[in-house]
Amino acid sequence: MTMPVNGAHKDAELWSSHDKMLAQPLKDSDVEVYNIIKKESNRQRVGLELIASENFASRAVLEALGSCLNNKYSEGYPGQRYYGGTEFIDELETLCQKRALQAYKLDPQCWGVNVQPYSGSPANFAVYTALVEPHGRIMGLDLPDGGHLTHGFMTDKKKISATSIFFESMPYKVNPDTGYINYDQLEENARLFHPKLIIAGTSCYSRNLEYARLRKIADENGAYLMADMAHISGLVAAGVVPSPFEHCHVVTTTTHKTLRGCRAGMIFYRKGGSDNHLILVDLRSKGTDGGRAEKVLEACSIACNKNTCPGDRSALRPSGLRLGTPALTSRGLLEKDFQKVAHFIHRGIELTLQIQSDTGVRATLKEFKERLAGDKYQAVVQALREEVESFASLFPLPGLPDF
Ligand code: PLP
Repeated sequence: MTMPVNGAHKDAELWSSHDKMLAQPLKDSDVEVYNIIKKESNRQRVGLELIASENFASRAVLEALGSCLNNKYSEGYPGQRYYGGTEFIDELETLCQKRALQAYKLDPQCWGVNVQPYSGSPANFAVYTALVEPHGRIMGLDLPDGGHLTHGFMTDKKKISATSIFFESMPYKVNPDTGYINYDQLEENARLFHPKLIIAGTSCYSRNLEYARLRKIADENGAYLMADMAHISGLVAAGVVPSPFEHCHVVTTTTHKTLRGCRAGMIFYRKGGSDNHLILVDLRSKGTDGGRAEKVLEACSIACNKNTCPGDRSALRPSGLRLGTPALTSRGLLEKDFQKVAHFIHRGIELTLQIQSDTGVRATLKEFKERLAGDKYQAVVQALREEVESFASLFPLPGLPDF
């Protein structure tokens, strides 16, 4: 658009025809597009729509979608945007997050939600990118068995989806005789494949998922459990099918299927968080307790203490481990160093689980300690201890130099 230059009268004429053009309804402004939309609208009206991933958005949804919000760039998050003029976008995004959490009765102290994905596929890809390193391993229901393309589908000859190009996937399957997911086989294969993420989600599976079972398999393998509830998210919100939130680390969904919203995606994530210098690690989901983990970590030169978690029935067998950072930050450890520390702790807890499966869960702490001190585990304990000690020795110890 060039600026008018030939006097005020001419300017007014030019601008008013320009204003008129901008204010024209679609049927006058672009009749070709208008007619195509009319044809589609009629197709939808006269047909019976049974595509399980589709729905009809309400007038209100379409009004919001076709509004001035289309005009605004708003990279970043509420309160932290790249561009100015985002106060109302911030207000809207915050409202959207609040409503999304309310729809699933989620406590905002425990769950957060990202409402920015354009649809379900980029939402899933964002989760894989955040939680699984490039070419890390994922397991999802096979496409022919009812999974979705973005859960890692590939054929013998071709990696079909971006997920299978950037991540290594091993599918799990349904039992062909029953049509139900073969959880036993998944459990067995997960032990061999060591996935970093297991996806509990379906595009064409008419049964409820056993989230508790899937979480147990994920825990046994140190994997995250992500539910992709795209198809059933409206049913979950209505409480008529089991909710994935109790058992999953992350839940993704589209908003335009059974939720009947606009075409978009959401990512719900647990907040595993701390506002201060300490973390209470709840080991109940791992199936062990703080006392056993404390003993194993101590044997590997990692000192921390067992602690009760809210809901513990016995102070004698506390479920948690209390970890604090002040001493190590005084030695100069930074965020990346604490990632390494977390990794050592993770290995210690894995070892705890291994010893526990050897002794049985009912064994006393005394029996557990005897097994830990026995020959069978000495080599692995010593190897981890040596790694921990050589890492710790890199950092100076404050205090008197001679001691
Ligand atoms: N996840 C599941 C389970 C789906 O069924 C679908 C699409 O139908 C998606 C993800 C992808 O969603 P979108 O088509 O919005 O990218």
